[in-house]
Amino acid sequence: MNLEDKFGREHNYLRVSLTDRCNLKCIYCNPMGKVSQKLNRNELLSFDELKRLIRIFLSEFGIKKIRLTGGEPLLRKDSDKFIRSIGELKTLYGFELALTTNGTILKNYLPALKLYGVDRLNISLDSLKPLNYNYITGCNDSHLSNSLKYVIDSIKIAETMNFKELKINTVILKGINDNEVIDFVNFIKNRDITLRFIEYMPFGDNEWMKDRFICTDEIIEKIKKYFDLEKENDCYGSVAETYRISNFKGKVGFISPISSHFCKSCNRLRIKANGKMKLCLFSSSSKEEIDLKGYLRDPSLTDSDIKQVIMSSVLNKEKEHAPIDELLKLKNSSMLNTGG
Ligand code: SAM
Repeated sequence: MNLEDKFGREHNYLRVSLTDRCNLKCIYCNPMGKVSQKLNRNELLSFDELKRLIRIFLSEFGIKKIRLTGGEPLLRKDSDKFIRSIGELKTLYGFELALTTNGTILKNYLPALKLYGVDRLNISLDSLKPLNYNYITGCNDSHLSNSLKYVIDSIKIAETMNFKELKINTVILKGINDNEVIDFVNFIKNRDITLRFIEYMPFGDNEWMKDRFICTDEIIEKIKKYFDLEKENDCYGSVAETYRISNFKGKVGFISPISSHFCKSCNRLRIKANGKMKLCLFSSSSKEEIDLKGYLRDPSLTDSDIKQVIMSSVLNKEKEHAPIDELLKLKNSSMLNTGG
């Protein structure tokens, strides 16, 4: 059965946050470490609860793609065992398994991720210069100060491992890393990687600054001064506009939730680490954040009851998210708590 909302959008992509904790304090996500990351064990969905929920989505709604994210998903204890257990469901339900990570503890996990069935790997990387990387990510701790090299090494290893898709996510901030756009494009010249520039978005606690915002069109203009971009046909539900560059192995994509939102083809739902299902990345009302944990922990409710809750909640999904001025006024949860 399709999980449709009242605007006929089919939801076949589930993003699941494994934890609200992260070892980085990126200035656009968790400036100065101000976002609270304190879900205790009981507030987190346990791996058994998460697996039950994922099974319901797969068996009842034919979900086609599951992305594990966070916080930093690999920080959660036994995340690899959990990933294996989700990977084992692939033969039964035929879906794609994806992971988004900041790459700072990725290297040792790579063989297991491949073995356990991760198809798509997104690595977040916002600078290729050590000082700027450390500034953006708030990597002042001595054990993290070498992170950029570690992340790039991990990308190089991942490239050799035949993941179905390897992507780099980059948030460009005016005056901070916009002078690295061309360096990033050159970085994927000989790499089978899709580089995606994501527009800087406002969330609760991220102290969004208009002056730092740079829209996709401006980034495209910068790139066009040096390279010819050839647009690819993007598939339904894809949030990025993707371009090829002649003589390049890699591709460049742009995610523009602020300058041109893609609500019309939204096919995604999010499960926060605390077990709330978010209908839209920017939703803030309780109507759009459904506490599935409570239902999962009610012993009188069956999988079929939970299926009904999910179906009727999705019918409340708004047609589109509010414009930027409104978003700034909302008390939306942080990206760390939501799972980006
Ligand atoms: N820790 C993992 C990582 O860094 O990839 C997963 C979680 S992180 C919240 C997921 C993605 O959200 C990252 O690519 C990050 O750059 C992006 N992100 C976080 N805050 C953002 C913001 N304010 N605007 C745009 N993208 C943001």
